[in-house]
Amino acid sequence: MATDTPVLIVGGGLSGLTSAMLLARQDVRCVLVERHSRTSIQYKFAGISPRSMEIFREAGLEEDIRANRTGDQQAGGVARGRTLSDPAIEWMMPSAWPGVDGLGPADPATCDQHVLEPILRAEAARLGADVRFGTELVSCGQDPDGVNAVVVDRASNTEQTIRAQYLIAADGASGTLRDRLGIGRSGPGVLQHWMNIIFDTDLSPYLLGKRFTSCFVTDLNATFTPRESGRWLLALQYDAEHGERPESFDEQRCRELVRKGAGQPDVRADLLDAREWEVAACIADRFREQRAFLVGDAAHLMPPTGAFGGNTGIHDAHNLAWKLAFVVKGAAGPALLDSYDAERRPVAAHTLEQALARLQAWFKDPQGRLPEPVEMVDGYDVVFGQRYRDGAILAEGDDPDRPFAVARDLSGQPGTRAPHLVVESDSRRLSILDLFGGTFVLLTGAGGSAWCEAIRDLSARLPLSFQCYRIGDGGDLGDVDGEWPDRYGVTNGGAVLVRPDGFVAWRAREMVEDAGTKLREVTRRLHIGAN
Ligand SMILES: Cc1cc2nc3c(=O)[nH]c(=O)nc-3n(C[C@H](O)[C@H](O)[C@H](O)COP(=O)(O)OP(=O)(O)OC[C@H]3O[C@@H](n4cnc5c(N)ncnc54)[C@H](O)[C@@H]3O)c2cc1C
Repeated sequence: MATDTPVLIVGGGLSGLTSAMLLARQDVRCVLVERHSRTSIQYKFAGISPRSMEIFREAGLEEDIRANRTGDQQAGGVARGRTLSDPAIEWMMPSAWPGVDGLGPADPATCDQHVLEPILRAEAARLGADVRFGTELVSCGQDPDGVNAVVVDRASNTEQTIRAQYLIAADGASGTLRDRLGIGRSGPGVLQHWMNIIFDTDLSPYLLGKRFTSCFVTDLNATFTPRESGRWLLALQYDAEHGERPESFDEQRCRELVRKGAGQPDVRADLLDAREWEVAACIADRFREQRAFLVGDAAHLMPPTGAFGGNTGIHDAHNLAWKLAFVVKGAAGPALLDSYDAERRPVAAHTLEQALARLQAWFKDPQGRLPEPVEMVDGYDVVFGQRYRDGAILAEGDDPDRPFAVARDLSGQPGTRAPHLVVESDSRRLSILDLFGGTFVLLTGAGGSAWCEAIRDLSARLPLSFQCYRIGDGGDLGDVDGEWPDRYGVTNGGAVLVRPDGFVAWRAREMVEDAGTKLREVTRRLHIGAN
């Protein structure tokens, strides 16, 4: 039996599950196929950035994720010492996400991938996504009107065809869709070989009350990361180029390594798992081929240093989901989808450079394969400073040739994440970010009635309804700290149009002569409101 669906998602990892959950929230039917019978059991992603937490907050999952967190939220950042017992342990980074405190309504969280993915899967299914684990995509082709895929149910070995309007390739680093779509990739490729050694122990007597999200131990050139209570991850490099093999990490050697890194020759270390993985860096030459879009590791593969890889995949999914939803529902023209590659690929390239800079700075490079590092910027620039210069935004004319820039401050510039502002609605205080997510939102000040009238008029005429809020005295929202005009770089008569993903699409610093004509021009240039 064939299935018809607006969107087919291949891959049930972080990026695919986030895509399914966000599409389902926008009432877009989708089918997700994942070849494994269950979500990942590996320790990989753990550090959810504050921006990703904003996305999960918008999806109503913040509380659930915090309730299931796997790390100590007060644990601070990354420490360094000769061994774990080194009395002179110092901070390499006192916070896992330096420079981002107070920038938004959501703190970062530590939640391992094997805990987070089931939360996303359950929410996607609850919202109506057709999530099929144990189902593998085996072939796929596309024509101008859609995508044809053949999937196999691995338990019954039965085939099924799926016809979709669009395809999201979230099949990760080892997926084949990028190749099948004829998309090349560039970058240095595999750089290092690592082992993840998971063990149970009690190290508390030796840590002397010190807490960290991970600790780099220089005697081993390795990191220790605390996981669930009493469980630890030791990650260290091995020298595959000179013949070292994962099999050489037997139980006895792993235990010795743990004891050496802990600086405790007799400490108990009950080995649970030892598994190899590769540090690699590459990026797809384009993130779109006709009706297919690459997200997550299928699009960009980066070292885990900085904890950017999975977060970037979550942001890809968030950037793409509303665009697909708008096009599928006829609220935007297909040209809107061109903005996905234009916006996300430069961000991924910049983030990849930053992950490499951290790898270079923090770990030895015995094979000498790391490229020349770029200047390392702090977490703020990577997590919040992303500024799209091209895509579904109307830039203000400065530096128009650059596709991407880092915004040192968020002040309502088109292409940046809309600034956090505390507002009051019906005596309830909330972040202005809590108003974004479903549709485009027009923000204006007390002197912006003409914008509100114009947007209401447009909503009545277009297959797309906008929301509009006047902020300040006599408006819809109280400006609790009196910061609205400064924070958003407008006067009281100015206006800011915020996209469903919370990024500023366009800004008028002050009132214009004809607000209706201006907004019609803006929506036309953004390809929204018309086919
Ligand atoms: C040691 C380590 C630590 C890390 N720590 C962090 C961190 O703290 N923060 C962070 O942001 N990132 C981190 N990362 C990176 C993060 O884990 C990855 O970026 C993320 O898991 C990628 O998710 P994904 O959904 O794009 O791909 P994947 O998780 O690889 O999912 C792809 C899925 O597609 C499925 N699939 C493939 N082909 C098919 C097919 N034909 N049919 C059906 N299904 C298919 C696969 O089975 C797989 O489940 C870390 C990575 C490592 C290795």
